[in-house]
Amino acid sequence: SDLCVINTATIKLKLPAETDQPADAVTSSKVQLVLLKNLYLSCDPYQRLLMESVQGLSVPSMSSYTPGSTIHGYGVAKVLDSRNPDLKAGDLVWGTTNWEEYSLITTPQVLFKIHHTDIPLSYYTGILGMPGMTAYVGFYEICSPKKGEYVFISAAAGAVGQLVGQFAKLMGCYVVGSAGSNEKVDLLKNKFGFDEAFNYKEENDLNVALKRYFPEGIDIYFENVGGKTLDAVLLNMRLHGRISGCGMISQYNLDKPEGVINLMQLIYKRIRFHGFSVPDHYHLYPKFLDFMLPHIRQGKIVYVEDIVEGLENGPAALVGLFKGRNFGRQVVVVSHD
Ligand code: NDP
Repeated sequence: SDLCVINTATIKLKLPAETDQPADAVTSSKVQLVLLKNLYLSCDPYQRLLMESVQGLSVPSMSSYTPGSTIHGYGVAKVLDSRNPDLKAGDLVWGTTNWEEYSLITTPQVLFKIHHTDIPLSYYTGILGMPGMTAYVGFYEICSPKKGEYVFISAAAGAVGQLVGQFAKLMGCYVVGSAGSNEKVDLLKNKFGFDEAFNYKEENDLNVALKRYFPEGIDIYFENVGGKTLDAVLLNMRLHGRISGCGMISQYNLDKPEGVINLMQLIYKRIRFHGFSVPDHYHLYPKFLDFMLPHIRQGKIVYVEDIVEGLENGPAALVGLFKGRNFGRQVVVVSHD
C-alpha cells in the first residue's frame, strides 16, 4: 500500500481562464479540461500491474504509476466545470479518474456520461461499468456460448466472475465457479445461481476437482486467475473449447510469471484461446446498457459490492483484492454526493 499516493489537497473548484489551457501537442487543438468531484473509486486488479514493471506483465496500452504521483483508475464522478461541450456542470460520469477528491481531467479519454440514475451510482464502477463490459464482451463476444454448454469461471465471486456466471445461466449453460472461501462458494450457489462451486484453496489437486464437476469436460473457460488453474483447466477442456483470456491475477504479485505446462492441449483439442482488453470494445457500451438495464431492473441479474468508506481506506482495499478479502466489486467511497 505504500506505493499508492492519495491526493487530498484542496484545489480551486473552477477551471482556469481559457487562455491558460495547455495546447494539445499532437493535434494543436486545445485540450478540453474537465473538473471532476470523485464519488466512487473502483479497486481493479490491473492497477497492480501499473505499480512496477513485473517481468512480462506490464500493460503496454496504459501509463504506469510513478512513485510520488497520484494513481489513476476507474471511478464515478460529478462534473463541476467543463470545457468539453459534451459535458456540463452537474453531469455524472464514469470512467478513468485519479485517486483524489477532485480531479482535473483532460479529454478525450474514457469518460461516459451517466443517464440512468435509478440504479445505484456505485454500480457504474461494476455491473454497469468496466467490469460489466468485461463480463459481457468476454463471455458473449469471445466465447460464442451455446445453450447446454459446460462453463467454468475462476475468481467467480469477483466483480467480473459473478456476472459471467449469471450470463451463462441466462444462456442455459451448466455453470461451475471457483473461489477462495466457503462463504464465496455459498454466494455463488445461493445468490448468483451457479450450478456448482468449489473452494480452490481446499482442493489438493485442481485436475481432480475439475473432473468431479465436469466429467464430460469444459466447453468454455472464463480465465481470471492463470497459473495452476489454467494448467488444470487445459487438461479438462473439450474438443473445440473456447477460453476467454480475461486476466491472470495469480501472476500479478510474482517476480516472475509461472510457466504453463499443458499448452499442447490447445492443439490436441483445437481450443480457441482469445485474450482481450475491454477498452477495445467500448463502442458496444450502448448495446450492453440496453441488455443490462432491464435485467437489473427486473432483478434477473443481481450484483454484490464490497464498499469501504473514505479515500484513506482505498490502498488497503486495493491490496485486499490479492488476498481475496473482497466480496464482489471492491468500491471506495470518496463522497456520496
Ligand atoms: P475481483 O473482484 O475478482 O478480485 C480479485 C479476486 O481474485 C480476489 O477477490 C480473489 O478471489 C482472486 N485472487 C486473488 N489472488 C488470487 C490468486 N493468487 N489465485 C487465485 N485467485 C486469486 O477482480 P475482477 O473481477 O475485477 O477481475 C477479475 C480478473 O479479470 C482479473 O484477472 C483482472 O485482471 C481481469 N480483468 C481483465 C480485463 C480485461 O480487459 N481483459 C478487465 C477487467 C478485469 P478469491 O477469494 O476467489 O481467491
